[in-house]
Amino acid sequence: SEGTEARVREERVETADGREIEVAANVGTPAELGPAADRGADGIGLFRTEFLFLDRDDAPDEAEQYETYKRAIETFPEGRVVVRTLDVGGDKPVPYLDLPDEENPFLGERGIRRSLGPDADLFETQLRALLRADADTDVGSLAVMLPLVTTVEEIAAAETVLDRVVEDLRSEGIEAERPEFGVMIETPAAAFMADEFVSHVDFFSIGTNDLAQYVMAAERGNDAVADLGDFRQPAVLRAIDATTTAAEGTDVWVGMCGEMAGDPALTELLVGLGLTELSMSAVTVPAVKERVSEIDTAAATALAERALAAASRDEVIDLLP
Ligand code: PEP
Ligand code: MG
Repeated sequence: SEGTEARVREERVETADGREIEVAANVGTPAELGPAADRGADGIGLFRTEFLFLDRDDAPDEAEQYETYKRAIETFPEGRVVVRTLDVGGDKPVPYLDLPDEENPFLGERGIRRSLGPDADLFETQLRALLRADADTDVGSLAVMLPLVTTVEEIAAAETVLDRVVEDLRSEGIEAERPEFGVMIETPAAAFMADEFVSHVDFFSIGTNDLAQYVMAAERGNDAVADLGDFRQPAVLRAIDATTTAAEGTDVWVGMCGEMAGDPALTELLVGLGLTELSMSAVTVPAVKERVSEIDTAAATALAERALAAASRDEVIDLLP
């Protein structure tokens, strides 16, 4: 049975024909970690770290961040915790960051753009806290993920900072290791360039909230353009497919952490498109796990092929359960 009554599955799930799909949770505060584990999440596929920086007068220091990240990793002793580096921009007020007043904040200085620019110090502090937390926990595993990436240069620049932080920590006697390193695919540029990105990262996580907004030029949260910004638009599906196709035959795994991943009616389509990790609001984890267990991969692949050939959103909707 689907929906809210789906039973909690502590164990990992695989499709009916045996393909393992990781079902993880998105969290935005430490208070959500425990409930995510209780719902049977295999790990955290998106830890939004903005909460640490919002509604306060100055940035959290390394020690404060360290405690939070350590707790997150320890909550999933057998799972992976994907922590996204700070993703603020002109649309969220953070007084001490001196964010620019922009005409189009969604197209301005946000995400990785700030971390490699005006917020470089914060970026380094955040990475230090993350790597120290990882070094001090002998359970679980940390992955670091960059938001709003559009170019190879951004990934390379962030990688340079990460490598330097590893070296710095080691020279201080901390046994830091390079964590899994990945990027969000949430811009058309990233989807188009995914075949170049594969040699720089361990994983991709598709952020369909922003990806749909940017692919369709339809502002997220704006009801007037909600039908255009729908995840079932064939243009959005093709951007997802470009990403999974780029990773095919490589060691790069592809997950999804946008809202689209939490809709059980879309699970078969997403498995067919080649995603092997789905991360969502914790409440939907049981229903998606249940759905995964019923899927036949060959049928899912056939569904994805038909959806990718669709000329309109209505045609895609007609294909779905
Ligand atoms: C996304 O854009 O899909 C995403 C998961 O990130 P956020 O919603 O935090 O922008
Ligand atoms: Mg996003």
